[in-house]
Amino acid sequence: MIAEILSVGTELLMGQIVNTNAQFISEHFPETDVYVYYHTVVGDNEKRLKECLLIALSRADVVITTGGLGPTQDDLTKEVVSMAIGKKMVVNEEVLKGINGFFAKKGRRMTKNNAKQAYFPEDSILITNKMGTAPGCLIEYQNKIIIMLPGPPREMQPMFMESVIPYFSKNTSHKLHSVFIRLFGIGESSMENKISDLIKTQTNPTIAPYAKSGEVTLRVTAKYNAKSESYKNIMKPVLDEIDKRLGEYIYSYDNIDLKEVVFLLLRDKHLTVSFAESCTGGLLSKYLTDISGSSEVFDSSFITYSNESKIIQLGVSKKTLIKHGEVSEQTVSEMVSGLQKKTTSNLVLAITGIAGPSGGSRKKPVGTVYLGLGYKKKIHTQKLNLWGSRDRIRHVTCLHAFNFIRKTLLQEENV
Ligand code: ATP
Repeated sequence: MIAEILSVGTELLMGQIVNTNAQFISEHFPETDVYVYYHTVVGDNEKRLKECLLIALSRADVVITTGGLGPTQDDLTKEVVSMAIGKKMVVNEEVLKGINGFFAKKGRRMTKNNAKQAYFPEDSILITNKMGTAPGCLIEYQNKIIIMLPGPPREMQPMFMESVIPYFSKNTSHKLHSVFIRLFGIGESSMENKISDLIKTQTNPTIAPYAKSGEVTLRVTAKYNAKSESYKNIMKPVLDEIDKRLGEYIYSYDNIDLKEVVFLLLRDKHLTVSFAESCTGGLLSKYLTDISGSSEVFDSSFITYSNESKIIQLGVSKKTLIKHGEVSEQTVSEMVSGLQKKTTSNLVLAITGIAGPSGGSRKKPVGTVYLGLGYKKKIHTQKLNLWGSRDRIRHVTCLHAFNFIRKTLLQEENV
């Protein structure tokens, strides 16, 4: 089936919000054999909304709208749809009671415009909204399906997953299953080179590479008949081949990022970490503590940006700083030793580098970064030669730091 997403909202047209609803729906609809061919955005305007709806109905089997279901005057979607397809608006008493109850519980009187949310085009199937007051609805109309969902993503997303997807999947035995393979340490073009023959000859499963600052992801998607096939059998030969060619760069088959992989490794091994950050200024600690539950593995962080702070907080020697400079293997090693004395963490990691755009020299250009890692009485160091903006260098440094921890912990398992 062909679908069109009709996103309603002047805010979208003005660039005040990003159309994440269309992205979300497009990503998930193919799971049920519904393929999105068109995205349309229209403001809260009756005439234009009707025009767009009629165009969508002329070229798609499924039209799904988001936004414009609320209580205010400019929330027009249901009214325009009912007009366009010649259906009366009828009240749903149960919804009306629910809205009344919602206001009574808050000790407020329900205003008349709120009752608007209880009216739907005749013959609609209601879609429950557990996260808000405006339910959605679905109408089967002349071999077409029109679905209306509210705008707020936190309301729209569960409604789509819990009601819309099951509505379509009951009619199809074809399903899609995707595996997201995450890689680090290889650029997008080198990765594509290594598997270009697989990409060129792909049929089922399909392979799609994506690149993000410093990382690449490969999406492998199998289409299968849920009644007679197993997606695992369709996927296996391609996944095995990818693993053979790119295995050394793959850090996850579960679409989780490097920091989460490191968090899980540390947690499973009951280990804690501490960091000393110079050029990343706390970014590495921020990334790790973005994960809920990180207190199980994260002990402390020292942001030792100046030389004085490296001396006072971590005991780096003045002589080392003068002789080798703050961005050097010697300095990062001493930062690690200092961290080991200051904390009781099982693993410590220090970073010093030049994020730019100023501060580089011929010998140590912008992007020169040293990582130091202390684990089980040994200190390991790594020199990175990165490129790009200050933001990119700091971000990619953190990815290398997480990968350094990951590799160290995995190597230990393999010896
Ligand atoms: P409400 O009952 O909250 O008024 P509604 O169904 O009338 O919901 P809108 O008023 O159109 O929806 O939008 C409400 C909010 O939902 C917007 O301010 C915006 O934050 C978010 N929103 C709307 N459409 C989208 C979209 N396509 N993508 C992402 N967010 C959206």
